[in-house]
Amino acid sequence: MRKKIIAGNWKMNMTFDEGQKLTSEIVNMYKDESISDVEVVLNVPFPHIMPVKKLIGKTPRIFVGAQNCSDQDSGAYTGEVSAKILASFDTDFVILGHSERRQYFGEDNELLAKKVKKALEHGLTPIFCCGESLEIREAGTHLPNVKFQLKQSLFDLSAEEFSKIVIAYEPIWAIGTGKTASAEEAQEMHDSLRKSIASKYGSEVANSTPILYGGSMNAGNAKELLSKPDVDGGLIGGASLKSRDFLEIIKSY
Ligand code: 13P
Repeated sequence: MRKKIIAGNWKMNMTFDEGQKLTSEIVNMYKDESISDVEVVLNVPFPHIMPVKKLIGKTPRIFVGAQNCSDQDSGAYTGEVSAKILASFDTDFVILGHSERRQYFGEDNELLAKKVKKALEHGLTPIFCCGESLEIREAGTHLPNVKFQLKQSLFDLSAEEFSKIVIAYEPIWAIGTGKTASAEEAQEMHDSLRKSIASKYGSEVANSTPILYGGSMNAGNAKELLSKPDVDGGLIGGASLKSRDFLEIIKSY
């Protein structure tokens, strides 16, 4: 049995008040629904971590995550936040390798391998993002391209370390565009990634690794995407900023 995870990625959105309102609504609705088998993660901007955590309180199965961390523990790195610091604030998850970090901040597979190590070292669960550009999709080389991202950033981990990772497949052409991958396209990629994990770490690890889909997932298309056997949840941007939409996605699982 694999974990089912619906994770929101607030990106660089939400003032303090907006974040508090959104979190309270999600927590209250989630409690009312008594959903028992889906884990929810709110990946928020750094300053929200503590106050969001406080609002979640002891609500079961809701966690808080960051959207990035440094590959260093501490020191003269102005503006950076380390996994060590995040862990000291009881952060549960951290998104690493989001395509926006790769594109705008030059993060490459080697740097991400170091960040993943640091996150694991400090007990955070990395949500490792991978995905291809439209150009690569159109050239038909998307399966090997995304496998290569996994190989370069994750396949130096031990099986024990790897078994703590969550993968998120996010085709770049589907992020924030309103154009989602079809359920079949998502399934094809997730199946291919699981096979590649199996050939490196064995089927037990592969079968227990959650692989989430991200890219314009919303209340309307979530059910079909989440019905695929290798789609174990979603990483949701825009639709995670409205409590009702986000809860609809959770409920559709
Ligand atoms: P959207 O859901 O807004 O397309 O964003 C997806 C994403 O990047 C989640 O990390």
